Amino acid sequence: MNWLNDFRDSIEPNAPLADRTKYRLGGNARWLAAPKSRQDLVRIVRQAAIDEIDVKTLGAGANVLVRDDGFDGIVLRLDQPAFTSIRFDGERVHAGGGADLMGLAQQCARRGLSGLEPMAGIPSTVGGAIRMNAGGRYGEIGNVVDEVCLVDRTGCAHRLARTDLEFGYRSSNIGDGVIVSACFALHACDPLRTVETFKRIWAEKKASQPMAEKSAGCVFKNPPARSAGALIDQAGLKGAAIGGASVSTRHANFIVARPGAKSADVLAVIDRVREVVADRFGVSLELEIDVW
Ligand SMILES: Cc1cc2nc3c(=O)[nH]c(=O)nc-3n(C[C@H](O)[C@H](O)[C@H](O)COP(=O)(O)OP(=O)(O)OC[C@H]3O[C@@H](n4cnc5c(N)ncnc54)[C@H](O)[C@@H]3O)c2cc1C
Repeated sequence: MNWLNDFRDSIEPNAPLADRTKYRLGGNARWLAAPKSRQDLVRIVRQAAIDEIDVKTLGAGANVLVRDDGFDGIVLRLDQPAFTSIRFDGERVHAGGGADLMGLAQQCARRGLSGLEPMAGIPSTVGGAIRMNAGGRYGEIGNVVDEVCLVDRTGCAHRLARTDLEFGYRSSNIGDGVIVSACFALHACDPLRTVETFKRIWAEKKASQPMAEKSAGCVFKNPPARSAGALIDQAGLKGAAIGGASVSTRHANFIVARPGAKSADVLAVIDRVREVVADRFGVSLELEIDVW
Protein backbone atom coordinates (compact mmCIF):
# COMPACT_ATOMS: atom_id res chain seq x y z
CA MET A 1 0.00 0.00 0.00
CA ASN A 2 2.77 2.38 -1.00
CA TRP A 3 0.22 4.78 -2.44
CA LEU A 4 -0.63 5.87 1.13
CA ASN A 5 2.79 7.57 1.26
CA ASP A 6 1.72 9.86 -1.60
CA PHE A 7 -0.96 11.25 0.72
CA ARG A 8 1.20 11.70 3.82
CA ASP A 9 -0.10 15.24 4.35
CA SER A 10 -3.78 14.34 3.96
CA ILE A 11 -4.10 10.85 5.46
CA GLU A 12 -3.63 10.44 9.20
CA PRO A 13 -3.12 6.93 10.58
CA ASN A 14 -4.89 5.74 13.75
CA ALA A 15 -6.94 8.93 14.03
CA PRO A 16 -9.53 9.57 16.77
CA LEU A 17 -13.09 9.90 15.49
CA ALA A 18 -14.90 10.81 18.72
CA ASP A 19 -14.27 14.55 18.37
CA ARG A 20 -15.63 14.41 14.83
CA THR A 21 -19.05 13.09 15.86
CA LYS A 22 -21.84 14.79 17.80
CA TYR A 23 -21.89 11.88 20.26
CA ARG A 24 -18.18 12.46 20.98
CA LEU A 25 -17.82 8.70 21.45
CA GLY A 26 -16.00 5.82 19.84
CA GLY A 27 -12.55 4.66 18.83
CA ASN A 28 -10.12 5.51 16.07
CA ALA A 29 -10.15 5.18 12.32
CA ARG A 30 -7.29 3.14 10.91
CA TRP A 31 -6.86 6.06 8.51
CA LEU A 32 -8.57 9.44 8.34
CA ALA A 33 -8.30 11.04 4.92
CA ALA A 34 -8.97 14.66 4.01
CA PRO A 35 -8.43 14.76 0.23
CA LYS A 36 -7.49 18.15 -1.17
CA SER A 37 -9.15 17.70 -4.56
CA ARG A 38 -11.63 15.50 -6.43
CA GLN A 39 -8.72 13.82 -8.19
CA ASP A 40 -7.15 12.91 -4.84
CA LEU A 41 -10.49 11.63 -3.58
CA VAL A 42 -10.96 9.46 -6.66
CA ARG A 43 -7.46 8.07 -6.32
CA ILE A 44 -7.88 7.23 -2.63
CA VAL A 45 -11.23 5.51 -3.21
CA ARG A 46 -9.92 3.61 -6.24
CA GLN A 47 -6.78 2.39 -4.45
CA ALA A 48 -8.81 1.41 -1.39
CA ALA A 49 -11.10 -0.69 -3.61
CA ILE A 50 -8.09 -2.40 -5.18
CA ASP A 51 -6.61 -3.15 -1.74
CA GLU A 52 -10.05 -4.16 -0.36
CA ILE A 53 -9.96 -1.51 2.34
CA ASP A 54 -13.36 -0.42 3.69
CA VAL A 55 -14.16 3.26 3.12
CA LYS A 56 -16.73 5.41 4.87
CA THR A 57 -17.54 9.09 4.49
CA LEU A 58 -17.99 11.21 7.57
CA GLY A 59 -19.96 14.42 7.40
CA ALA A 60 -20.71 16.41 10.52
CA GLY A 61 -21.00 13.11 12.42
CA ALA A 62 -24.53 14.01 13.49
CA ASN A 63 -26.07 10.67 12.58
CA VAL A 64 -23.20 8.32 13.33
CA LEU A 65 -22.25 6.29 16.39
CA VAL A 66 -18.69 4.96 16.17
CA ARG A 67 -18.12 1.76 18.15
CA ASP A 68 -15.54 1.83 20.97
CA ASP A 69 -13.10 -0.27 18.94
CA GLY A 70 -13.22 2.20 16.07
CA PHE A 71 -13.31 1.60 12.32
CA ASP A 72 -10.79 -0.60 10.55
CA GLY A 73 -10.62 1.25 7.24
CA ILE A 74 -10.41 4.69 5.67
CA VAL A 75 -12.74 7.43 6.87
CA LEU A 76 -13.05 10.28 4.38
CA ARG A 77 -13.80 13.79 5.53
CA LEU A 78 -14.68 16.43 2.99
CA ASP A 79 -13.72 19.57 4.86
CA GLN A 80 -11.07 20.88 2.46
CA PRO A 81 -12.06 23.92 0.32
CA ALA A 82 -12.50 21.71 -2.78
CA PHE A 83 -15.59 20.22 -1.10
CA THR A 84 -17.11 23.08 0.88
CA SER A 85 -17.77 25.85 -1.64
CA ILE A 86 -21.21 27.36 -2.33
CA ARG A 87 -22.18 29.07 -5.59
CA PHE A 88 -25.45 30.85 -6.35
CA ASP A 89 -26.82 30.83 -9.89
CA GLY A 90 -30.30 32.40 -9.98
CA GLU A 91 -32.68 29.99 -8.30
CA ARG A 92 -30.09 27.20 -8.43
CA VAL A 93 -27.45 26.70 -5.74
CA HIS A 94 -24.34 24.52 -6.14
CA ALA A 95 -22.72 23.26 -2.94
CA GLY A 96 -19.86 20.95 -2.06
CA GLY A 97 -20.68 17.67 -0.32
CA GLY A 98 -18.80 18.84 2.77
CA ALA A 99 -20.48 22.26 2.97
CA ASP A 100 -22.29 23.09 6.20
CA LEU A 101 -26.02 22.58 5.62
CA MET A 102 -27.33 25.06 8.18
CA GLY A 103 -25.00 27.77 6.90
CA LEU A 104 -26.19 27.06 3.36
CA ALA A 105 -29.88 27.07 4.37
CA GLN A 106 -29.37 30.35 6.25
CA GLN A 107 -27.65 32.00 3.28
CA CYS A 108 -30.45 30.87 0.97
CA ALA A 109 -33.12 32.20 3.33
CA ARG A 110 -31.37 35.59 3.53
CA ARG A 111 -31.30 35.77 -0.27
CA GLY A 112 -35.00 34.94 -0.47
CA LEU A 113 -34.37 31.51 -1.97
CA SER A 114 -36.98 29.16 -0.58
CA GLY A 115 -36.74 25.38 -0.21
CA LEU A 116 -34.07 24.71 2.41
CA GLU A 117 -35.81 26.33 5.40
CA PRO A 118 -36.86 22.87 6.76
CA MET A 119 -33.13 22.20 7.31
CA ALA A 120 -33.08 24.75 10.16
CA GLY A 121 -31.72 23.11 13.30
CA ILE A 122 -30.37 19.99 11.52
CA PRO A 123 -26.61 19.66 12.15
CA SER A 124 -25.25 18.28 8.89
CA THR A 125 -23.12 18.56 5.82
CA VAL A 126 -24.77 18.72 2.42
CA GLY A 127 -23.58 15.18 1.57
CA GLY A 128 -24.75 13.64 4.86
CA ALA A 129 -28.16 15.28 4.54
CA ILE A 130 -28.70 14.04 0.98
CA ARG A 131 -27.56 10.51 1.87
CA MET A 132 -30.02 10.49 4.81
CA ASN A 133 -32.73 12.57 3.09
CA ALA A 134 -32.71 14.73 6.21
CA GLY A 135 -35.78 16.66 7.14
CA GLY A 136 -38.84 16.68 9.29
CA ARG A 137 -42.46 17.72 9.33
CA TYR A 138 -41.80 20.77 7.11
CA GLY A 139 -40.05 18.89 4.33
CA GLU A 140 -37.05 16.80 3.33
CA ILE A 141 -33.91 17.80 1.48
CA GLY A 142 -34.71 15.35 -1.33
CA ASN A 143 -37.56 17.65 -2.41
CA VAL A 144 -35.09 20.28 -3.65
CA VAL A 145 -32.08 18.25 -4.81
CA ASP A 146 -31.72 18.64 -8.55
CA GLU A 147 -28.39 16.95 -9.25
CA VAL A 148 -25.70 15.06 -7.36
CA CYS A 149 -22.06 14.42 -8.28
CA LEU A 150 -20.94 11.16 -6.80
CA VAL A 151 -17.80 9.03 -6.66
CA ASP A 152 -18.77 5.37 -6.41
CA ARG A 153 -17.03 2.62 -4.44
CA THR A 154 -14.71 1.83 -7.33
CA GLY A 155 -13.64 5.45 -7.77
CA CYS A 156 -15.79 6.25 -10.82
CA ALA A 157 -17.43 9.68 -10.96
CA HIS A 158 -21.14 9.99 -11.85
CA ARG A 159 -23.52 12.88 -12.35
CA LEU A 160 -26.99 11.88 -11.12
CA ALA A 161 -29.89 13.91 -12.47
CA ARG A 162 -33.11 14.45 -10.54
CA THR A 163 -34.67 11.50 -12.38
CA ASP A 164 -31.84 9.16 -11.27
CA LEU A 165 -32.32 10.03 -7.61
CA GLU A 166 -34.68 8.21 -5.25
CA PHE A 167 -35.53 9.51 -1.82
CA GLY A 168 -37.54 7.83 0.91
CA TYR A 169 -38.07 8.36 4.61
CA ARG A 170 -34.52 9.03 5.90
CA SER A 171 -33.12 7.14 2.93
CA SER A 172 -31.79 7.63 -0.58
CA ASN A 173 -30.31 5.52 -3.36
CA ILE A 174 -26.84 7.05 -2.78
CA GLY A 175 -25.59 3.79 -1.21
CA ASP A 176 -21.90 3.87 -0.29
CA GLY A 177 -20.95 6.45 -2.93
CA VAL A 178 -19.32 9.74 -1.91
CA ILE A 179 -21.34 12.88 -2.66
CA VAL A 180 -18.80 15.45 -3.77
CA SER A 181 -21.29 18.15 -4.72
CA ALA A 182 -24.96 18.80 -5.32
CA CYS A 183 -27.22 21.31 -6.98
CA PHE A 184 -30.48 22.50 -5.42
CA ALA A 185 -33.44 23.93 -7.31
CA LEU A 186 -35.02 26.60 -5.08
CA HIS A 187 -37.58 29.28 -5.80
CA ALA A 188 -37.42 33.03 -5.31
CA CYS A 189 -39.50 34.41 -2.49
CA ASP A 190 -39.66 37.39 -0.14
CA PRO A 191 -36.49 37.18 2.04
CA LEU A 192 -38.46 38.39 5.06
CA ARG A 193 -40.69 35.34 4.69
CA THR A 194 -37.91 32.79 4.16
CA VAL A 195 -35.87 34.14 7.10
CA GLU A 196 -38.97 34.14 9.30
CA THR A 197 -39.80 30.52 8.35
CA PHE A 198 -36.18 29.44 8.97
CA LYS A 199 -36.19 31.06 12.42
CA ARG A 200 -39.59 29.60 13.36
CA ILE A 201 -38.56 26.04 12.44
CA TRP A 202 -35.25 26.41 14.29
CA ALA A 203 -37.01 27.73 17.41
CA GLU A 204 -39.46 24.81 17.28
CA LYS A 205 -36.56 22.32 17.15
CA LYS A 206 -34.76 24.00 20.03
CA ALA A 207 -37.92 23.85 22.13
CA SER A 208 -38.55 20.14 21.56
CA GLN A 209 -35.11 18.54 21.22
CA PRO A 210 -32.15 18.26 23.63
CA MET A 211 -29.90 20.21 21.20
CA ALA A 212 -27.22 21.01 23.78
CA GLU A 213 -26.68 17.39 24.80
CA LYS A 214 -24.50 14.83 23.05
CA SER A 215 -26.60 12.73 20.70
CA ALA A 216 -27.10 11.77 17.08
CA GLY A 217 -30.67 13.06 16.90
CA CYS A 218 -33.48 10.53 16.56
CA VAL A 219 -32.08 7.05 17.09
CA PHE A 220 -34.98 5.10 15.56
CA LYS A 221 -37.06 5.60 12.44
CA ASN A 222 -40.76 6.10 12.97
CA PRO A 223 -42.60 2.84 12.21
CA PRO A 224 -45.37 3.23 9.59
CA ALA A 225 -48.09 5.56 10.92
CA ARG A 226 -46.56 5.62 14.42
CA SER A 227 -44.06 7.72 16.31
CA ALA A 228 -41.00 5.92 17.70
CA GLY A 229 -40.66 8.62 20.39
CA ALA A 230 -44.29 8.19 21.51
CA LEU A 231 -43.88 4.38 21.75
CA ILE A 232 -40.69 4.74 23.82
CA ASP A 233 -42.39 7.31 26.04
CA GLN A 234 -45.51 5.13 26.50
CA ALA A 235 -43.24 2.22 27.41
CA GLY A 236 -42.04 4.33 30.35
CA LEU A 237 -38.48 4.49 29.10
CA LYS A 238 -37.80 8.23 29.32
CA GLY A 239 -34.73 8.63 31.51
CA ALA A 240 -33.82 4.90 31.33
CA ALA A 241 -30.03 4.75 31.69
CA ILE A 242 -27.22 2.25 31.24
CA GLY A 243 -23.71 3.44 32.11
CA GLY A 244 -23.34 6.98 30.80
CA ALA A 245 -26.16 6.82 28.23
CA SER A 246 -29.85 7.43 28.77
CA VAL A 247 -33.11 8.00 26.94
CA SER A 248 -33.60 11.76 26.90
CA THR A 249 -36.26 13.03 29.28
CA ARG A 250 -37.01 15.75 26.75
CA HIS A 251 -37.46 13.69 23.57
CA ALA A 252 -37.81 9.92 23.96
CA ASN A 253 -36.30 9.14 20.54
CA PHE A 254 -32.98 10.75 21.55
CA ILE A 255 -30.41 8.74 23.50
CA VAL A 256 -28.00 11.16 25.11
CA ALA A 257 -24.46 10.54 26.37
CA ARG A 258 -22.97 12.02 29.53
CA PRO A 259 -19.22 12.59 30.04
CA GLY A 260 -17.54 9.22 30.59
CA ALA A 261 -20.10 7.35 28.48
CA LYS A 262 -18.97 4.61 26.09
CA SER A 263 -20.50 3.75 22.73
CA ALA A 264 -21.30 0.39 24.31
CA ASP A 265 -23.59 2.20 26.78
CA VAL A 266 -25.56 3.80 23.93
CA LEU A 267 -25.79 0.42 22.17
CA ALA A 268 -27.00 -1.21 25.40
CA VAL A 269 -29.76 1.44 25.77
CA ILE A 270 -30.71 0.86 22.12
CA ASP A 271 -31.07 -2.89 22.77
CA ARG A 272 -33.12 -2.28 25.91
CA VAL A 273 -35.47 0.16 24.16
CA ARG A 274 -35.99 -2.24 21.23
CA GLU A 275 -36.69 -5.13 23.59
CA VAL A 276 -39.21 -3.26 25.73
CA VAL A 277 -41.02 -1.66 22.77
CA ALA A 278 -41.22 -5.03 20.98
CA ASP A 279 -42.60 -6.70 24.14
CA ARG A 280 -45.11 -3.97 24.89
CA PHE A 281 -46.34 -3.04 21.41
CA GLY A 282 -45.10 -5.82 19.08
CA VAL A 283 -43.22 -3.15 17.07
CA SER A 284 -39.67 -3.74 15.88
CA LEU A 285 -37.82 -0.40 15.88
CA GLU A 286 -35.40 0.19 13.00
CA LEU A 287 -32.27 2.28 13.53
CA GLU A 288 -32.06 5.72 11.94
CA ILE A 289 -28.51 6.28 13.13
CA ASP A 290 -25.58 4.64 11.39
CA VAL A 291 -23.43 2.50 13.71
CA TRP A 292 -19.81 2.11 12.56
C1 LIG B 1 -29.38 17.55 17.81
C2 LIG B 1 -29.66 16.81 16.53
C3 LIG B 1 -30.85 17.06 15.86
C4 LIG B 1 -31.15 16.39 14.66
N1 LIG B 1 -32.32 16.66 14.02
C5 LIG B 1 -32.59 16.04 12.84
C6 LIG B 1 -33.79 16.33 12.12
O1 LIG B 1 -34.62 17.14 12.53
N2 LIG B 1 -34.01 15.68 10.94
C7 LIG B 1 -33.11 14.78 10.42
O2 LIG B 1 -33.34 14.23 9.33
N3 LIG B 1 -31.96 14.49 11.10
C8 LIG B 1 -31.69 15.09 12.27
N4 LIG B 1 -30.54 14.79 12.94
C9 LIG B 1 -29.61 13.77 12.39
C10 LIG B 1 -28.52 14.37 11.48
O3 LIG B 1 -28.39 15.73 11.72
C11 LIG B 1 -28.84 14.14 10.00
O4 LIG B 1 -29.00 12.76 9.71
C12 LIG B 1 -27.73 14.71 9.11
O5 LIG B 1 -28.20 14.84 7.81
C13 LIG B 1 -26.46 13.88 9.12
O6 LIG B 1 -25.50 14.57 8.32
P1 LIG B 1 -23.95 14.49 8.63
O7 LIG B 1 -23.25 15.35 7.67
O8 LIG B 1 -23.70 14.72 10.07
O9 LIG B 1 -23.68 12.97 8.27
P2 LIG B 1 -22.92 11.90 9.15
O10 LIG B 1 -23.65 11.72 10.43
O11 LIG B 1 -21.50 12.20 9.23
O12 LIG B 1 -23.17 10.62 8.24
C14 LIG B 1 -24.49 10.09 8.09
C15 LIG B 1 -24.47 9.11 6.92
O13 LIG B 1 -24.26 9.82 5.71
C16 LIG B 1 -23.07 9.36 5.08
N5 LIG B 1 -22.40 10.51 4.51
C17 LIG B 1 -21.91 11.61 5.12
N6 LIG B 1 -21.38 12.46 4.23
C18 LIG B 1 -21.52 11.88 3.02
C19 LIG B 1 -21.15 12.25 1.70
N7 LIG B 1 -20.51 13.40 1.41
N8 LIG B 1 -21.44 11.39 0.70
C20 LIG B 1 -22.07 10.22 0.94
N9 LIG B 1 -22.44 9.81 2.16
C21 LIG B 1 -22.17 10.64 3.20
C22 LIG B 1 -22.26 8.69 6.18
O14 LIG B 1 -21.36 7.73 5.65
C23 LIG B 1 -23.34 8.09 7.02
O15 LIG B 1 -23.81 6.89 6.46
C24 LIG B 1 -30.22 15.44 14.14
C25 LIG B 1 -29.02 15.22 14.81
C26 LIG B 1 -28.72 15.89 15.99
C27 LIG B 1 -27.42 15.63 16.68
